[in-house]
Amino acid sequence: MMIPAIGQFDLHMHSNVSDGTLSPTELVQRISKTDVKVMALTDHDTLGGLAEAKVEADRHGIQFINGVELTCDWRGRVIHLVGLGFDSSSDKFESYMDHLIQLRYQRAEKIAERLEKRGVARGLFDLAKKYAGEGQIGRPHFAQALLELGKVESMQEAFDKYLGQGCAGDVKAEWPAIEQSIALIKEAGGVAILAHPTKYKMTFTKLRELMSDMLSAGADGLEVSYPGVTPGHQHELIKLADRANCWVSAGSDFHSPDQRWTALGRYPHFDAQRVIVEQLCA
Ligand code: AMP
Ligand code: MN
Ligand code: MN
Ligand code: MN
Repeated sequence: MMIPAIGQFDLHMHSNVSDGTLSPTELVQRISKTDVKVMALTDHDTLGGLAEAKVEADRHGIQFINGVELTCDWRGRVIHLVGLGFDSSSDKFESYMDHLIQLRYQRAEKIAERLEKRGVARGLFDLAKKYAGEGQIGRPHFAQALLELGKVESMQEAFDKYLGQGCAGDVKAEWPAIEQSIALIKEAGGVAILAHPTKYKMTFTKLRELMSDMLSAGADGLEVSYPGVTPGHQHELIKLADRANCWVSAGSDFHSPDQRWTALGRYPHFDAQRVIVEQLCA
């Protein structure tokens, strides 16, 4: 198959199986109205939407790539790892994902408890669970709950006041070490990519250390284009990838049509060697 151009592939997006708002089918239907020909669904810590999305992608002639965005730990920091092109039937996934469901559920109970203790609101757990539905529960579901209760006026305000870094609802969890997450993806035949490297509030010196550790553990590369990355930072990320001779990836990190700053298939234009979609389409 032809290698898709910038804007014709999107390797990072979410459905309502994690913290997105569209079902996997609705997401693919929306993609089918864009220029995107190759897509990966990368829900947080779950493969639950892949089968449904693939069926719909096949119907529309869109090449579908299995994906996931794994929450992991690197030296006490929370890092997101995008896994792509793995075999989702690998039996390694089952216990790993079960563990993550438990981690997220227990963390959600603690988030509710902490916020209720502070008198923010009552009944938060049930409301957040309602928004999560059958899928993985996360902080955005608490943001929706706070919004519904009129405690905040926007998701952003919910993160700024209650859920973001350093706030009461930013409850720590024992996420798997990044080496473990990389091993899981590699053993299932996939590629492992550092998600949105500039979103961790790390210096580039730290980022280079992280990449070096990840590459030693078998990771394949990093995202260099996603909403919010500045041209200067993108330049640095591409330089980092060139020096490490690793792969680069790109995606919209789409969650919802309500978020006006993201759209499927949209991320800043870039020019780089070794774009991972080439390998995934080969
Ligand atoms: P969790 O994985 O449960 O810790 O939630 C993290 C998710 O929250 C991210 O994947 C984003 O979708 C969302 N998020 C993080 N920070 C913000 C923010 N400041 N405003 C809105 N959504 C956010
Ligand atoms: Mn998210
Ligand atoms: Mn992420
Ligand atoms: Mn994401």
